[in-house]
Amino acid sequence: MDQTILSEALSRIDEARIVKLAKELVRVPSVSGEEKAVMNRARELLEAIGVEAELHGSEDRPIINAVLNPGAERLLVFNGHLDVVPIAKPDAWTKAPWDPVLEDGRLYGRGSSDMKSSCAVMIHVLEILKEMALPLSVGVHLVPDEERGAAFGSKVLVEKITKGEMRRPDYVVIGEQSNLKVRVAERGMFGFQVKFYGRAAHTAASRTTGINAIAKASKGVLALEHHIDKFHEWIGHPMQSVNIIEAGTVSNQVPAECTITVDRRLVIGETADDVVAEVTADLDKAGAGDPDWSWEIVAPKDEEGNWVYTPANYTPPDSELGKVFMDAVPAALGAEPELYVTWAGSTDGRLYRQAGIQTIGFGPIGFGAHGPDEFVFVDSLVKTAKVYVALALRLAEG
Ligand SMILES: [Zn+2]
Repeated sequence: MDQTILSEALSRIDEARIVKLAKELVRVPSVSGEEKAVMNRARELLEAIGVEAELHGSEDRPIINAVLNPGAERLLVFNGHLDVVPIAKPDAWTKAPWDPVLEDGRLYGRGSSDMKSSCAVMIHVLEILKEMALPLSVGVHLVPDEERGAAFGSKVLVEKITKGEMRRPDYVVIGEQSNLKVRVAERGMFGFQVKFYGRAAHTAASRTTGINAIAKASKGVLALEHHIDKFHEWIGHPMQSVNIIEAGTVSNQVPAECTITVDRRLVIGETADDVVAEVTADLDKAGAGDPDWSWEIVAPKDEEGNWVYTPANYTPPDSELGKVFMDAVPAALGAEPELYVTWAGSTDGRLYRQAGIQTIGFGPIGFGAHGPDEFVFVDSLVKTAKVYVALALRLAEG
């Protein structure tokens, strides 16, 4: 990478400007379903820097696609969502959620970390790259509905891309918080239930003919609530949590059935069959020697009888985009790149990856996403901007 050009571009990153743009976005409440105003604000901000925003989606929930240098051969897209989760407990906030404040290098407000400030960084990066006439198309997908599954957001765009109705990006960067680490993979998901069986009886017979399914399930829950000793270097450990329990009908009857619902997140290489084998082993062990131990795993299956699940998705560190990232991070920050190997939920990145598009996550350091006093560290926004600029310059070199 040409150091002079890179240094010149990096020197134009303006912290105050990023904060101003982020405040503009945080100031517009945009709980999922009510994103119209914030989308219009983002569109105005883009148009103010001379980047035309094309609208997709519905009138009430617009989606922004804006592309610089549209004539270039390859397209890099930054994706960010502008919807936020509601303020669960206003009393728990010591700051005003919709009136962003900067304090001790932290920008506070709902969406400051998840993820309006990243969207502000993207707009600022376009503003800088616009002056450079790079031989690379660089765009943003600013979307609603990420917090509720993306059916009205990124999914709409990816469907259009798949159908050839919209330009297919060659590379996508998801700007969700990643603590300035490179996120190359996201866990998959397998949701299943375990039904534990007993025998209904009057409470009076609970120690004789009754078999209490809740008591059986209790053993099962404890057998499944544990750390899973598997590890993938791109993503970390799998996760498993028993999140729903249902049993019992009336207070004077021993319950015959108890159902638990388990959310299992998979790492690369794991399948639903692996999970079923693991759960079976855990439950067999828990019920060893119990003549009344009876359970079954219930989950949707496809036409061929296979479990329905979503495997982990990834873009390897040695993919084209992965390599450029590993190069852009030290060029921009002077520090070795690290992979984001931790617990984290999924992002819209999975949708682009499912469409076969190289996609990597990189974003700032923040705290309190979905909770009170959400904030983002402003210096991490500047660093994110540096990496985005370096990435674009490096990709533009071909
Ligand atoms: Zn988010």
